[in-house]
Amino acid sequence: MTRAELKQQLLDAGIRPSAQRLAIYEFVKSTKVHPTAEVVYNTLRDELGSLSLTTVYNTLKLFVDAKLVTMLNIDDTFRCFDGDISMHAHFRCDSCGKIFDLEIKKELLSMAGGAEQFDITDVQLYLKGLCPECKKNNK
Ligand SMILES: [Zn+2]
Ligand SMILES: [Zn+2]
Repeated sequence: MTRAELKQQLLDAGIRPSAQRLAIYEFVKSTKVHPTAEVVYNTLRDELGSLSLTTVYNTLKLFVDAKLVTMLNIDDTFRCFDGDISMHAHFRCDSCGKIFDLEIKKELLSMAGGAEQFDITDVQLYLKGLCPECKKNNK
């Protein structure tokens, strides 16, 4: 997605696209790492001199409220952000801490008994364990 398209998405959501907001939005939308606010801050603070961690967090919350970004509360102490708002599950590795995207198959939703009477707009599914890499190193 181009910078102009990202800017338009912010405008469409009623968010004034300041240089800081646009840079934060561009980073979250382009990365697959599911960054915390700290990671976003550490990545962008050289580029955006006057940035504070509070500003980053508040900006991310603004995007979440506008449904442009998803916030993942995998547990109480760990909160991160995902620019991919399509329906998918997350796997967090207990060993390396990496977060992986997993596909949610239709069959899974139909396994939730009685789900067909509801109009499902969102699913939060978190899985934990060892990723393939750590599983290999563990042996
Ligand atoms: Zn791992
Ligand atoms: Zn994700």
